[in-house]
Amino acid sequence: MMKIEQGRTWKNWAQTFESQPEKIFYPSSINEVSTIVKEAAIEGKNIRVIGAGHSFTRLVESDEWLISLDALSGIESIDKDNGTVTVFGGTRLYHVGEELGKQGFSQENLGDINVQSIAGAISTGTHGTGLQFGNISTQAIKIWLVTAAGEILPISKTENAQYYNACLVSLGTLGIIVKVTLKIIESPVYEYKSDQIEFSILKKNLTQLIESNRHFEFYLFPYSDLIQIKTMNISAQKPKNLRLHHFKNLLLENYLFFILSEVCRLFPKTCRFISRLSSKSVGRTSIAAHSYQLFATPRMVKFREIEYCIPLEHLLPAIQEIRECIEEKKHKVHFPIECRMVKADDLWLSPSYKRDSAYIACHMYKGMPYEDYFHDMEQIMKKYDGRPHWGKMHNRSNNELYNLYPKFADFLSIKNELDPYELFLNGYLKDLLNDKDLMNMKKVQ
Ligand SMILES: Cc1cc2nc3c(=O)[nH]c(=O)nc-3n(C[C@H](O)[C@H](O)[C@H](O)COP(=O)(O)OP(=O)(O)OC[C@H]3O[C@@H](n4cnc5c(N)ncnc54)[C@H](O)[C@@H]3O)c2cc1C
Repeated sequence: MMKIEQGRTWKNWAQTFESQPEKIFYPSSINEVSTIVKEAAIEGKNIRVIGAGHSFTRLVESDEWLISLDALSGIESIDKDNGTVTVFGGTRLYHVGEELGKQGFSQENLGDINVQSIAGAISTGTHGTGLQFGNISTQAIKIWLVTAAGEILPISKTENAQYYNACLVSLGTLGIIVKVTLKIIESPVYEYKSDQIEFSILKKNLTQLIESNRHFEFYLFPYSDLIQIKTMNISAQKPKNLRLHHFKNLLLENYLFFILSEVCRLFPKTCRFISRLSSKSVGRTSIAAHSYQLFATPRMVKFREIEYCIPLEHLLPAIQEIRECIEEKKHKVHFPIECRMVKADDLWLSPSYKRDSAYIACHMYKGMPYEDYFHDMEQIMKKYDGRPHWGKMHNRSNNELYNLYPKFADFLSIKNELDPYELFLNGYLKDLLNDKDLMNMKKVQ
């Protein structure tokens, strides 16, 4: 019997919104997903699919029906010869990593947490860092989509190929991704290094750091000239036991950071001092391990976040402006700003569509005012043609999105074809993907 919950309040991880859906369904087979969709169409209900609820935006808000694929999860098969793995849509990334790791394989790149569902990560263009690699959606070579008609549609570059570039980053608006085939690599041992450098050194060496490291990211600390840089490169070293490394991470980046964040919340004037203190405490670390043990770290301190994707060539002027703006406006923020690099791709709604990109993420501790800070950061990102991360907070209208994404109108026509009665939209997405406004705008032009 399929599990169905009624009368439950559903909250996302960041608790930026909550929903009181009529029902939450937990199907455990693809056929059950298809049956729910057909019933929704008959009863005139909207459906939103939840992954792990790690998006900050109101993507999965619903007062009608929610579907969770938590029970439709796990590895279906690993094809070692062709370097692929096929997993069900609800599978969490840590599960994919652990199972692949046992067989000597891994995903080529990951973000900084691994608790998302694979379908949820793909649907928002979740990314890691490293200019040789696209976002996680680009790892998907085939997906199986349950459409609004309840049909199970395989989509790849050779099957139903007209939908491929639209479906991979599609926010759950074209159907429900029930299964995915991902390309994988033989799992290398990586050397992870973290170090502290001056901003002036970063400026001089930025291009070289980006180009010469397989995975490179850096953190700007508000009010500080010290930068944390992190790299991961393939190494011939033997993998180490990471217990101490994980323990240190838990202690410093979670428990201690939580205490410091509470001090900032209660005494916002301490933000400047605490940010500087944090920047000074970045130690030199080097550790060798397999990828699924290294990419992700636990995130126990709750925060709000905006993240923008800008063309890579604007990275340096953008971060200079961010540093100046924080100083000038005296923003009360102690969370470091995370900067990562991602290769261009062809996915229509991917923020890195057709451009090698830098992602800049700004966080604010939960409970502290974030509006002015995020507003100022968003203005800077707009200047540099920034496209917002779909899962992170932003204030862009659908007209603006239309101008930012050359294939936005094509995406909307596929949406209208696959879901003509808007079964998969909630109010938030109806506004964001409102093609009537766009049609009027085009007429005026
Ligand atoms: C602490 C934290 C750290 C993060 N780190 C990163 C990072 O390093 N890099 C990065 O890019 N992002 C990061 N994110 C954002 C996060 O990766 C994305 O928001 C991601 O989409 C969340 O996946 P999820 O499984 O929680 O999906 P949800 O947030 O539950 O859903 C996201 C979208 O996917 C859709 N969806 C879910 N399942 C399906 C399905 N089966 N079929 C169709 N659509 C579906 C939903 O309808 C929704 O539109 C982070 C978020 C948090 C809270």
